Amino acid sequence: EKAQIGVTGLAVMGRNLARNLARNGFSVALHNRSQARTDALVAEFGSEGTFVPSTDLAGFVESLEQPRKVIIMVKAGAPTDAVIDELVPLLDEGDIVVDAGNAHFADTRRREAALRDKGLHFVGSGVSGGEEGALNGPSIMPGGSPESYAALEPMLTKISAHVNGEPCCVHVGPDGAGHFVKMLHNGIEYADMQLIAEAYDLLRQVLGLSPAELADVFRDWNTGDLESFLIEITAEVLSQTDPTAGGPFVDIVLDQAEQKGTGRWTVQSALDLGIPVSGMAEAVFARSLSGDVVRREAAAGVLPGPASPKADVDRDAFIEDVRHALYSSKLVAYAQGFDAIRAASEEYGWNIDLGAMATIWRGGCIIRARFLDRIKEAYDRNADLPSLLVDDYFRDAVASGQEAWRRVVATAATVGVPAPGFSAALSYYDGLRAERLPAALIQGLRDLFGAHTYKRVDRDGSFHLEWSGDRSETAQ
Ligand code: NDP
Repeated sequence: EKAQIGVTGLAVMGRNLARNLARNGFSVALHNRSQARTDALVAEFGSEGTFVPSTDLAGFVESLEQPRKVIIMVKAGAPTDAVIDELVPLLDEGDIVVDAGNAHFADTRRREAALRDKGLHFVGSGVSGGEEGALNGPSIMPGGSPESYAALEPMLTKISAHVNGEPCCVHVGPDGAGHFVKMLHNGIEYADMQLIAEAYDLLRQVLGLSPAELADVFRDWNTGDLESFLIEITAEVLSQTDPTAGGPFVDIVLDQAEQKGTGRWTVQSALDLGIPVSGMAEAVFARSLSGDVVRREAAAGVLPGPASPKADVDRDAFIEDVRHALYSSKLVAYAQGFDAIRAASEEYGWNIDLGAMATIWRGGCIIRARFLDRIKEAYDRNADLPSLLVDDYFRDAVASGQEAWRRVVATAATVGVPAPGFSAALSYYDGLRAERLPAALIQGLRDLFGAHTYKRVDRDGSFHLEWSGDRSETAQ
């Protein structure tokens, strides 16, 4: 009896994905470079379903029914290429190779093209939700040919998370589309976490609330529009006491945020596409600043600022203001993220359904939130929505909270508490809605120093002023 699908790479993610498939009734071929992981899986969880273990890749391929479906779940980068190179000569035309690791979408585009040339399908699939999600239902973002998705769909939609009976798995688009959307998911996750951290920091410093009191604030927020996994676990982390020394856990954690690089990829890709993703960029920069020990030590206690961050504000009113600032800034980050997906979709011809992306992220993944239902509804109302911010529902939400948002950014600046996410989001919002931007002056400067020309508001064409001569205007 041949297995319906195979997983090679049985570290925490691959192992849990294989178990998830088996628990859902699919027979799963198993392989890992070092056999110990395969043996451990079968020994510990063999009773969960039908596993077909192999000691080498040839045996693994042999154990699969055709057309073969192979999920690669190894370290992203060179290891993925190494596995693909070893796998490809063993496969037959029409077989499907799924890379479910965190590949860069450009690598996925390259691999898809190479395998397509050999008559094989390559599916770059984002998988989100960490090890828990992989086991119990992740959010899945597959990219590749429609034929390969049709073959995988019954399995992927069965093992994915579900919200209101709908799977958090949709065919994103061709080649790198799935991994691009997964990357954006991570970028948005960075922005979300930075904004939550700013809300925490402001409430703590300005009002002097304890982490336990703040946990209650976040718990309360989690019953409204902000309801999400990240807000829920924020309350959990803030209410945790240090198991070693007692006292708030958050206070004994070194304040240097690490990163594996997908946030940076998101910002780099958005820069290439010319899409402002300031929310995500500020989140990446804030992590970098936090880890820049040399400069932080040189500046702390040396650079002057306000004497105390405490402000004479009403407690409940300020909490409500910060809630509005968080919601509006989060909306900006998502609007920017969806702009980047739209731009990439146009650039690479992916034809991505933006509303469907919101559906995928409603469950299973780290940014799962009630908010995503609202995004889906916004795209249902208008599939060609130019920006989430101009959707009626979101426009009204920001309209009712924007004064609060402005007060929070002003307070942060006045008391000297950094809020790069909140303020960058507000600047983006004001830039977007401005009737006229100072870009006109920049164009003037560019024309003066570099003869880069400018366009006029009243006539078509490009123009240049003879800056060093008689300052007459010539059409270019
Ligand atoms: P790791 O990223 O730690 O990778 C370990 C696995 O890769 C092992 O099975 C290892 O085999 C295999 N491997 C490494 N190098 C090679 C090679 N040259 N040839 C063959 N196999 C190799 O495992 P994770 O389970 O954490 O993640 C797997 C993938 O999923 C990664 O791409 C990761 O980015 C992605 N991902 C991870 C998430 C997470 O929460 N951890 C969430 C979402 C995606 P061996 O046992 O022989 O060393």
